[in-house]
Amino acid sequence: MTTVLHEERLGAVLQAVRDAGVESVADLGCGAGDLFLRLAQEPGIARLVGVDVSAEALARLRARLARILQIRADRCDLWQGSVLTPDARLARFDCVTLIEVIEHLSPADLPRMERAIFATIRPRVVIVTTPNAEFNPLLGVPAHRFRHPGHRFEWTRAQFRRWSERTALSGGYGVAFRDLAGCHPDLGGASQMAVFTRRRQSPSGS
Ligand code: SAH
Repeated sequence: MTTVLHEERLGAVLQAVRDAGVESVADLGCGAGDLFLRLAQEPGIARLVGVDVSAEALARLRARLARILQIRADRCDLWQGSVLTPDARLARFDCVTLIEVIEHLSPADLPRMERAIFATIRPRVVIVTTPNAEFNPLLGVPAHRFRHPGHRFEWTRAQFRRWSERTALSGGYGVAFRDLAGCHPDLGGASQMAVFTRRRQSPSGS
């Protein structure tokens, strides 16, 4: 994806975080930190953690963090871990972001990720983005290939909506959608975003 599209996507996610008015964010699958570094400079965010399975990505992010002087290191943490295994410390966070991460999981692991986030951690807001497969021809991606060799699946907008609406319903969340990055009138954007907002404290309604 081009830098312009990536910038647009990050800008839209940052705006969604601001609109949600959250004070703490866990950026799961933070990678080398393109979103994390922006969140770390948001004055309204008092607590930020980045989680990734890759020690190498976290080391790159740590080095980038150290170079940005205006970041208050005391409010940022980086943990190595998996989105499939809920960390009890994440239960205290208002918002979870999963930016271009779910497509790196095996489809068979999605239910584990859903349980970890929407049943165990249960933040007030969950923001998920994933590539929109319909846009691939505009990026020159052949029909039989994924956009990135690390992707295990890529969804159309209808597929993402179906997954998101089912996940929201079973978790007790509302969900809103947005096309991201270079919106085509028929094919949508390069990416797609779902913003989940918790309706009740637990799936049982308590
Ligand atoms: N969110 C970042 C990085 C996206 S790339 C961005 O938008 O720039 C996908 C990231 O997900 C990679 O850093 C990869 O290491 C991470 N990842 C893949 N499987 C994961 C898992 N099970 N738990 C946590 N992170 C995972």
